[in-house]
Amino acid sequence: MAEKKERQTKAYVPHRNCPKCGVQSKLAEHTDRRTCGRCGYMEKK
Ligand SMILES: [Zn+2]
Repeated sequence: MAEKKERQTKAYVPHRNCPKCGVQSKLAEHTDRRTCGRCGYMEKK
């Protein structure tokens, strides 16, 4: 069940910034999603 464990370190995250706001806004990490506090964008993991 626990197959998808984190394999990479946190040093490299390909999609951390908000796709709408760009590099100005980072996505907040949640357990199952990422959200942008700026525009309200939400992304499922
Ligand atoms: Zn945003």
